Amino acid sequence: MEKFPGSFASKQPGLSTSIFAVMSGLANECNAINLSQGFPDFPISEKLISLVEKYMRKGMNQYAPMQGVLSLREGIAEKVKSTCNVEYDSVKEINITAGGTQAISSIIAAFIHPDDEALIFEPAYDSYAPSVILNGGIVKYVELRQPDFHIDWKEIKKMISNRTRMIILNTPHNPSGSIWKPEDMKELEKITQNTDIIILSDEVYEHLIFDGIRHESVCLYPELAQRSLIVGSFGKTFHTTGWKVGFVLAPENLMSEFRKVHQFVVFCVNTPVQHAYAEFIRDKDNYESLSSFYQQKRDLFAKLIQESRFKVVPCYGTYFQLLDYSRISEEKEFDFAVRLTKEYGLGSVPVSAFYHKGNENKLLRFCFAKTDETLEKSAEILCKI
Ligand code: GLN
Repeated sequence: MEKFPGSFASKQPGLSTSIFAVMSGLANECNAINLSQGFPDFPISEKLISLVEKYMRKGMNQYAPMQGVLSLREGIAEKVKSTCNVEYDSVKEINITAGGTQAISSIIAAFIHPDDEALIFEPAYDSYAPSVILNGGIVKYVELRQPDFHIDWKEIKKMISNRTRMIILNTPHNPSGSIWKPEDMKELEKITQNTDIIILSDEVYEHLIFDGIRHESVCLYPELAQRSLIVGSFGKTFHTTGWKVGFVLAPENLMSEFRKVHQFVVFCVNTPVQHAYAEFIRDKDNYESLSSFYQQKRDLFAKLIQESRFKVVPCYGTYFQLLDYSRISEEKEFDFAVRLTKEYGLGSVPVSAFYHKGNENKLLRFCFAKTDETLEKSAEILCKI
């Protein structure tokens, strides 16, 4: 193909390919064990597969409603009622999306005007800032404080201005595995009181939280819930990241703005999968068992590498484990992650990729949503380094 002969200005100069695509691609190229991108390597529920087949055979193969299949929205409403004791109207306040990332970009597109400011905590999932910038917004970065990645609320107070339109939060937090505490939610409530700030709460790891701690959803705090759009993901909860189905919860007035964007981004999400989830979600065990399932994996991985030279950073939620390699190498995170993939056959993600300025902390992120066998093989490699 000949090159485009005209000229154009890039809308996103300097923006490179997502680190998940880069590291997963490299791991595949090198035939390495891939603990980089977050996805399970074990089979999903047979029941869920047969439900999708059932609904395909029943003829549920045409467009779903723009808002999502109603029985799935009702299932989500029941789940939120039973886990959080909060009511969302399945017709007006819940929408199905093509995964969490689409939900996030559509929320940002719906609310960020040119020159609006959005506050983002770093390290941050890599889609937030580009979505804000693409919509003409200005990103205000706040660093989570190490070693435990906590929020310095005094700093946040200083950063809020009358141009602040949105605060984007993520708990349980990718990549650090930290979680918001009730005190954090109360601080957020105080800071946003009497403002027009909208909260985008990325809660895709809501069911991956360990040691019996409660997930702090913004929906548990009525004043926050009023100004929040919450993002959830069936990919994380039902081990089906490749099906790309998520959802948004929001009060009606925010949801109707969200839908104005969503309808012209994807219009709707694939139908048989929504029907299958609608049935599957009714069985509470399908999500309530997740914490203990992943807690065992977190603990197994940590135990297997305790004799290695890596330092394990405490992980309270998500399926990511940060490892500190400062005792091993002076190399930059990206270089070390590449070498680990190429020379040792183990893929990971450099945490620097979650910072706009590429902070260097000597931390790599490993996904432990893997079979015990994969974790054992990975640990064997890590113990040799
Ligand atoms: N959320 C996943 C992760 O952090 C990846 C999502 C993606 O690849 N876009 O690994």
